[in-house]
Amino acid sequence: DLLNRLRAEALETGRIEGLPGDMFINGQWRAAATGNRMETLDPGTGEAFAEFAAGGAAEVEEAVAGSDKAFKEVWRKAAPVERANILRRAARLMRENEERLAVVETLDSGKTVSEALGDVRGSARLLDYYAGAADKLQGDTIPLGPDYMSWTMIEPVGVTAHIIPWNYPTSTMIRGIAPALAAGCTAVVKPAETTPLTALMIAELFQKAGLPNGVLNVVTGTGVEAGAPLVSDPRVRHITFTGSVGTGSRVMEAAAKNIASVTLELGGKSPAIVLADCDLDRTVEDMIWAIYSNAGQICSAGSRLVIERSIHAEFLEKLAKRADELTVGHGLRQPDVGAINSAMQLDKIAGYVEDARSRGVTVAAGGERATDLESGKGWFFRPTILDNVEHQDRVIQEEIFGPVLSVQVTDGVEQALEYANGTDFGLAAAIYTADITKALRLARDIDAGQLYINEYYAGGVEVPFGGNKLSGFGREKGLAGLEAYCKIKAVTARI
Ligand code: NAD
Repeated sequence: DLLNRLRAEALETGRIEGLPGDMFINGQWRAAATGNRMETLDPGTGEAFAEFAAGGAAEVEEAVAGSDKAFKEVWRKAAPVERANILRRAARLMRENEERLAVVETLDSGKTVSEALGDVRGSARLLDYYAGAADKLQGDTIPLGPDYMSWTMIEPVGVTAHIIPWNYPTSTMIRGIAPALAAGCTAVVKPAETTPLTALMIAELFQKAGLPNGVLNVVTGTGVEAGAPLVSDPRVRHITFTGSVGTGSRVMEAAAKNIASVTLELGGKSPAIVLADCDLDRTVEDMIWAIYSNAGQICSAGSRLVIERSIHAEFLEKLAKRADELTVGHGLRQPDVGAINSAMQLDKIAGYVEDARSRGVTVAAGGERATDLESGKGWFFRPTILDNVEHQDRVIQEEIFGPVLSVQVTDGVEQALEYANGTDFGLAAAIYTADITKALRLARDIDAGQLYINEYYAGGVEVPFGGNKLSGFGREKGLAGLEAYCKIKAVTARI
């Protein structure tokens, strides 16, 4: 089928024909004014496979100006049903092009092609979901007695900026722009410099879907050259940022200068609390999925296992066996675990594990770099387990963003709760138990944006997603995901 043909071609040639390399600004495909270009590397081989434009302040200026004009003159005036129809057409086009999008995403990000396909399908679903919301953004009437009439209107906030990380380039972009466009906002997207291609392909699909010029813009380039001028522009009224804590803090500072609002989706160190009465075999499989999906490069990955002492030995034995069985390789070869996005990220992961080993932490599985078995190339890390780690250890407290699970042994629910809340992050947490009271108490008391009970990553498009503490604030997905893009106008008349 098409997917297999594209996979085989890309594996053989290391390239894909017909990729967009220019930026999408105000409905035009444009190179950088400087003529500068950058390369994007395939993490599965470590080799360059495509080029793209290195945009900067000049392109950001044009994109924001175009976006501002399109907002004022076209998009906010468009009938909600018109906006919905365009989003639905874009969803259909995404599905029609899912194989190509998935293969390009695999080459750009390093994830496995089945992970990439899942992400594209989820993104199409997000477009449909918010298409359905476009004509339901209605206000309230407020009773004030016989002398007044008062009501609220939901209005779009204006030009929005979307800064995207490299781990889920497609869905992170769509979960921001779908509610933004549905609400009547316009958008300027800055993808990560290691994964710019699917953002450009998505812009092509929106152009085909009939989106008016300027409503969606994609400016590629580095964070400093393209991202910083975008988040500093006073015409940008909301910034949706997904990425690291340090950059998020800088983005918030820039937004503060313009009193622009921000959604920050930052890092995590999410615990899975596994109690002695859980369904052991199922929970082992869930932990494999929680930490090794996308090679652990997930903000909400279950990167800490907090396990009751009485089942620790048995659980770890099973878990380590399963981790050792996982295949690692080029994402297009359909391994269990794909590549690490960059050489820098791989060095960071290996650095954490080496440091832990040198301090005497037990490495119960993995702990080594790897290469693609067929080509001997690429950036890979074996699925790793660090066992019996002290709570203050940096592999418990800091986000590694790789396939590394750190295990904490607990002597009961109270200590598990202390461990769960005992980091600077508050993104997700999971609880595995047959005792509904214990599960619900922990769900009540854990300070995190997502609580999963007896299944990791439970939920989907309809469920709000976001973090507490250093994991950020604001929510994406679900109806809550519309709030950032809407402002309330209250109209009150004396009659
Ligand atoms: P990063 O912060 O390095 O980069 C994110 C984006 O910000 C990139 O597009 C980058 O070019 C841009 N950027 C960099 N400097 C900028 C500046 N000064 N102004 C504006 N933009 C700038 O993060 P990353 O390494 O790409 O992503 C990994 C991090 O993202 C991890 O910490 C992970 O936990 C987090 N993340 C969070 C979520 C979530 O939903 N909470 C999802 C995915 C990733």
